[in-house]
Amino acid sequence: MTTTADPSGPEWELGTSIDYSNDATVGEWETVIGLEVHAELATRTKLFSGAPNQFGSEPNTNIDPVTLGLPGSLPVLNEKAVELAIRIGLALNCSIEPCVFARKNYFYPDMPKDFQISQYDKPLNVEGWLELPSGFRAGIERAHVEEDTGKSTHVGGDGRINDAVHSLVDYNRAGVPLVEIVGRPDLRSADDARAFVTELRSVLVAIGASDGRMEEGSLRVDANVSVRPMGSTELRTRCEVKNVNSLRSLGRAIEYEAARHIDMYKAGERPRQETRHWDEDSGRTTPGRSKEDAEDYRYFPEPDLVPLVPDPTWVEEIRAALPALPATRRATLAQAAGMKSTDVALVVERDHDDIALAAIAAGADGARCVTRLINDLPPETTDLDPDMLAKLLKMESDGKLTATQVKQVLGELAEKGGDPEAIAQALGFETMESDELESVVDQVIADNPDAWERFSEGDDGDRKKMSGFLTGQVMKATRGQADGGAVSRLLAQKVGGS
Ligand code: MN
Repeated sequence: MTTTADPSGPEWELGTSIDYSNDATVGEWETVIGLEVHAELATRTKLFSGAPNQFGSEPNTNIDPVTLGLPGSLPVLNEKAVELAIRIGLALNCSIEPCVFARKNYFYPDMPKDFQISQYDKPLNVEGWLELPSGFRAGIERAHVEEDTGKSTHVGGDGRINDAVHSLVDYNRAGVPLVEIVGRPDLRSADDARAFVTELRSVLVAIGASDGRMEEGSLRVDANVSVRPMGSTELRTRCEVKNVNSLRSLGRAIEYEAARHIDMYKAGERPRQETRHWDEDSGRTTPGRSKEDAEDYRYFPEPDLVPLVPDPTWVEEIRAALPALPATRRATLAQAAGMKSTDVALVVERDHDDIALAAIAAGADGARCVTRLINDLPPETTDLDPDMLAKLLKMESDGKLTATQVKQVLGELAEKGGDPEAIAQALGFETMESDELESVVDQVIADNPDAWERFSEGDDGDRKKMSGFLTGQVMKATRGQADGGAVSRLLAQKVGGS
């Protein structure tokens, strides 16, 4: 009798007798990713005390009795941190719930209390979503409030605790307010994951909740990765990849980990549920501790804090004060420009959408405006007169400036302001009248009879080659002021026998 493996069966059925090696081939696997993001909140002080929340200070200077968990010290909840956490919940379309702080116990030395105050079964923000530029809504399971831990540095060996000579600990970060955003396993590729983090960061920065700096650890991403045969809906054993400090590492780590899982299944093995560390230099993940179950942390309600029940009136005030979010801004600009949301995403990401909307309102062509802003406006530009931008775009559509000239004028306009007509003139781009251009073209034809003959009577290849040559001669004669498009049109007209 033969038995068929049922990979969708419950975990306990997946014994060693089941052969996985034939259940999918490479290319028939789907990667399943859920991200957990820790965002440090942009408060002045810590979550439960008045010690400063500041990056880059001398080690162990932003501390006080609460941070150090000294006997008799008690936590006092930071109202601003709660407000920022609620902003995050609202921006992620979560419902804001009465919640309870809980102690998460563990034995690492980076928390002097030997526990972290977090939230467990009753988090503040539950069940929301984050809309990506593609329009896809990635589910958010929860976004709870917790305190950050301190930072250990293991000296000697390869920087891991196991073979360290000694360890140093800095408690500046201990007690810094965090929101941990737990995404649902809705993402299917490294690109999806990068889009999720990019969008989440824009949202956090837009609402003033966090500075979103991955390089300073304000935004830390862990990726839960598993794979499954394409078409299946099961969730297989996942590994949690930590230590990804940039969008690039995130993508690489996910791709490495998915490939590792596929290889294991194809070899008839199964991945273990565990935490793994991404090593940027070797481009691999290495096993860390096997993943704790919740019971290992012995969660229990924090006895020194009362439950947090946000006043609905306060929540509505916070909601009313939220700025427009990137998804809404993309939709607004896409509609005004007559384009798709994905086409205008970069304009919104660079905060140039107000400029674009005002220029379009002043009569600029939407698509031309968006294209010029994306391709030719220095991304760091913060100020640009939309009326002058509209005027410049009009000069382009009227054929008074070439694409290259528009780019130069736009650069000047962004840097120094002014009037695009005056800038163009100062740069020597004064409008070339069409009869003036025509006489230059005639002169070039007269000076290059062989080229003209090959252009007007040759085959397609000749025509193409000579068009380039003749246009080049016109450009030379006009010191680059002629519009290439206008020159080709004139040349074509002249073949037509005018
Ligand atoms: Mn956490």
